[in-house]
Amino acid sequence: MTAGTERPRILDGKSTAKQIRAEVAEGCAELTSRHGFKPGLTVVLVGEDAASQIYVRNKQKAAVRAGMESSIERLPLDAAESRVLETVARLNDDPAVHGILVQLPLPGGIDDQKVIRSIARHKDVDGFHPENVGRLWTGLDAFVPCTPAGVVELLRRNEIELRGKHAVVIGRSNIVGKPMAALLLREHCTVTVCHSRTVDLPAVAARGDILVAAVGRMAMVTEEFIRPGAAVVDVGIHRVEDEATVRELFGDDAARLAAVRERGSTLAGDVHPLQARRRAGWLTPVPGGVGPLTIALLLRNTLQAARHAVQGSDGAR
Ligand code: NAD
Repeated sequence: MTAGTERPRILDGKSTAKQIRAEVAEGCAELTSRHGFKPGLTVVLVGEDAASQIYVRNKQKAAVRAGMESSIERLPLDAAESRVLETVARLNDDPAVHGILVQLPLPGGIDDQKVIRSIARHKDVDGFHPENVGRLWTGLDAFVPCTPAGVVELLRRNEIELRGKHAVVIGRSNIVGKPMAALLLREHCTVTVCHSRTVDLPAVAARGDILVAAVGRMAMVTEEFIRPGAAVVDVGIHRVEDEATVRELFGDDAARLAAVRERGSTLAGDVHPLQARRRAGWLTPVPGGVGPLTIALLLRNTLQAARHAVQGSDGAR
């Protein structure tokens, strides 16, 4: 890693995601030519939340571009939990569906965990089923949650040394923080997981050779959190709509200011970008860092599910 006083090297998630999507497309083409079918991904979407609609459409488009079949099962906002469970059960039994993803969060009144547990483990391409979670922690093959899996790919493909390094993860959610910790442990990092009750968080974070911020608080990770030369990975996504905040986070960045003026917003992460640039050795941009990797890894998990279906095994073993 470079000295902290130099500008950090950018961890370009867009190009890494493109590489992974190309590898997946190649795998899909090979599977189709050998076995005569395409990997199938079905997304279950309950309700009409605008952000979820966009995410789901992007996942579907990316799957089709990679050479997969992809469909969306839409259920109304007031769908009963039993109807969601019936939908998942039907998809579990459908041999043309290899990957099932239930778009979260589900509307109030539906138990997210119960629905996740109802997905057949070998079709659980989000890696949220407790059996996949347990397999990950016990060192067995498993479907791994896409965002943290993407972070590891980004670090590895940029040849960032992980073995023996101290990785600090801020955030302990089931979707990002905890699986991130499991994966970094698997890569032989010494891992510290921080959360909202961590005492003296900046000092703990500043011990990290690798710092992953998955907090959900815009620009919370400031200079004092960052060890000079550290690889800083910013998982957070926040919309910034006012010019004063853009200037505070990005200085006089003309493209950012233009985005707010012309399109109404730009994106920022959990890491303060200007301050991080003064200390980090490596840094993920927002957007264009972790974000694009999530879908790429979802596609890779779906291809893996389809391959296992061919091999007649019970999935990600
Ligand atoms: P979450 O709200 O479920 O978890 C946040 C975690 O941060 C919690 O474990 C909490 O303990 C911790 N935390 C909250 N406030 C804290 C504080 N002041 N100090 C220390 N720790 C604190 O969020 P999540 O689902 O893990 O997502 C985190 C961020 O990542 C969000 O901004 C989300 O939008 C983003 N995200 C991005 C992607 C992507 O594809 N790039 C995917 C998932 C999530």
